[in-house]
Amino acid sequence: MEKEEAIRQLNDQVQDCRRCQLRAGCSRVVFGEGSLNGGLMVIGEGPGQDEDRLGRPFVGRAGQLLDKILESGGFSRRDQVYVGNIVKCRPPGNRVPLPEERTACMPYLKEQIAIVDPKIIILLGATALQGLIDPKAKIGASRGKWLQWEGRWVMPTYHPAALLRNPGLKPVVWEDLKQVVGKYRELVKPSHPCEYC
Ligand code: SF4
Repeated sequence: MEKEEAIRQLNDQVQDCRRCQLRAGCSRVVFGEGSLNGGLMVIGEGPGQDEDRLGRPFVGRAGQLLDKILESGGFSRRDQVYVGNIVKCRPPGNRVPLPEERTACMPYLKEQIAIVDPKIIILLGATALQGLIDPKAKIGASRGKWLQWEGRWVMPTYHPAALLRNPGLKPVVWEDLKQVVGKYRELVKPSHPCEYC
């Protein structure tokens, strides 16, 4: 099956999901979006207020910052990046998703990853790191260090919302992104252009 058709069918399935309590409190399921063939996937925590309203991931202030960060590495949702979250429904008051909510939603994310088949995954923040890799992992200790997950290269870094709260983290995230650009050139496209690296 073509990737487009597989992702469309999964999206249809997820839109009807009631596997956890989050669906009852949100406006809509935020499935994910972006390039299916670019080789890079970004995973965050869950939809916020703007995402819940518009049905798209990372469209609020943190999302705009994420797009700028990706752009500085020569990446865009249109051409290289597929964007998703650990949970697809907004937790009330933007609280951190509970372990049982993460567990309920994880099969969808794993299927999404299998369809998109990225060579590299960027995990944004502790919830993404703990949800996909290790419930006890700390983002401060893990960021900037390559991990392997099911044959894919994984780079944990800070969530853009953390950068909005603490702009002093921006150079740290930039260092992590430069590593991603290097790995992208190694694994996906040797001629990948990046204005700053
Ligand atoms: S967060 Fe995930 S598991 Fe829970 S209702 Fe929404 S789509 Fe289903």
